[in-house]
Amino acid sequence: MAKKVPLFIDGQFVDSETHEWIDVTNPATNTVIAECPVTPDAEIERAIASAKAAQKHWREIAVPERARYLMRYQELLKAHQEAIAQTLAEETGKTFTDAKGEVWRGIEVVEHAMGLPTHLMGETLANVAANIDTTSWRQPLGVCAGITPFNFPAMIPLWMFPLAIGCGNAFVLKPSEQDPLTPMCLAELFAQAEFPAGLLQIVHGRKAQVDALLKHPDIRAVSFVGSPAAGQHIYRTATAQFKRVQCMVGAKNHMVVMPDADKQQVIDHLAGAACGAAGQRCMAISVAVLVGKQTRSWVDELHAAMAKLRPGPATDPAAAYGPLISRRALTRVERIIGEAAREGAKILLDGRGCSVAGFPEGNWLGPTLIDEVTPAMSCYREEIFGPVLAVMHVADLDQAIERVNSNPYGNGTSIFTASGAAARKYRQAIEVGQIGVNLPIPVPLPFFAFTGSKGSFYGDLHAYGKDAVRFYTETKTVIERWFETGTAAGSRPNMTIN
Ligand code: NAD
Repeated sequence: MAKKVPLFIDGQFVDSETHEWIDVTNPATNTVIAECPVTPDAEIERAIASAKAAQKHWREIAVPERARYLMRYQELLKAHQEAIAQTLAEETGKTFTDAKGEVWRGIEVVEHAMGLPTHLMGETLANVAANIDTTSWRQPLGVCAGITPFNFPAMIPLWMFPLAIGCGNAFVLKPSEQDPLTPMCLAELFAQAEFPAGLLQIVHGRKAQVDALLKHPDIRAVSFVGSPAAGQHIYRTATAQFKRVQCMVGAKNHMVVMPDADKQQVIDHLAGAACGAAGQRCMAISVAVLVGKQTRSWVDELHAAMAKLRPGPATDPAAAYGPLISRRALTRVERIIGEAAREGAKILLDGRGCSVAGFPEGNWLGPTLIDEVTPAMSCYREEIFGPVLAVMHVADLDQAIERVNSNPYGNGTSIFTASGAAARKYRQAIEVGQIGVNLPIPVPLPFFAFTGSKGSFYGDLHAYGKDAVRFYTETKTVIERWFETGTAAGSRPNMTIN
């Protein structure tokens, strides 16, 4: 029998009393490796009540002491990086190298959170008026919630709860039901770091369980990462309850290739950025915008480079990437490739029908290269989330900028060029939140914020960086005047009010 994924409530791993379970599968074999509970309302209520009680004490714990808990947590995560990566690779299908890299990106956020005593400092100014001083303090909100996607089950929860908790909050996480085992590894180490019980709670499920969090009066702020459809529902529902909300959603990331770019760099990076992690990254490059006539001939070499990449199981060190997360995801991507062919695009490399020896049931898709793509085609309009690269051709940089800016998404983009002037023009004109110059996937390290924009983000304050500290705190401003007893100034009534 597949193991049952527990809940993490009040510092304990507890079995849900639900009668509804969701299969968690290994995407390379489609065997069921665990069952994830659809958490009943009463258990969600218990998690929130425990978080609320724990936060009351936690907010009074000295800020450097809170940072010391995070230091212990960071040490444990580092010590168990490989073990977490093993679980992650099994339930997501990622290659082991990729899985380890993901855990590391999460650890970096915890390292950043260890510096919270500095980031939490407010501002002061003496003598804003005669004898009057002003101080602003950053104070925790209370209980915050996070809803996370399947594609980074370690990194994205770690974008959220270490910073929220370090800021003095408690946190209720509802991870993806497709890979809930990795977040439970994070919870085990959280418990080992001996954080006070109740600061981190994990409940499982789908939309109904998310809705229970969104509508609960004790949840003050909601962080979401996932698809636009879910993000729109979450943003609307939670803001209607007057909660603070940040939603990091879908993407369509373009790489603009100027004719003066280093051809080999372009080809290597395009192939890797499109197919790495099976294209299931919100910062994957899914569109190459080739500028000018001479770059047309580069498509043949791109084709050759992509054809060399082959998917495989996490245990195969030669595999470039793993399977798609589910049969459903595979069918969807295959449908989009079929539509591209019918709509007149050229399928130069077709990954459909891919097989991997020894893993006949896996959700495999070979690298796919689609040329002559136009904006009206579904392979351009939809976020594909597979190892699929669409190629478009434009005459000059102005047309490339126009192409990228007319796309509704704004998560990431990059330009490859030898010209500083072209790079500068691009970064000034482009309406995308994260821009790489001669590097394909510009994900900021955690001391900067993750600044996707336009249709890729709903909210004001982004994930991690200084934004996260603002998101997970309330600013309280104190304006003070002290009287020296017995002075004339102390007894004079103030007749001005402003
Ligand atoms: P998803 O929206 O299906 O699921 C994400 C989470 O939301 C899960 O926990 C799921 O249970 C929950 N959920 C699903 N439907 C819901 C609904 N209707 N109401 C409330 N909750 C709901 O996303 P996914 O397939 O797990 O992840 C892939 C998506 O995430 C892609 O669109 C990708 O671009 C996006 N993503 C964005 C970023 C970013 O930073 N912008 C990062 C990673 C992934």
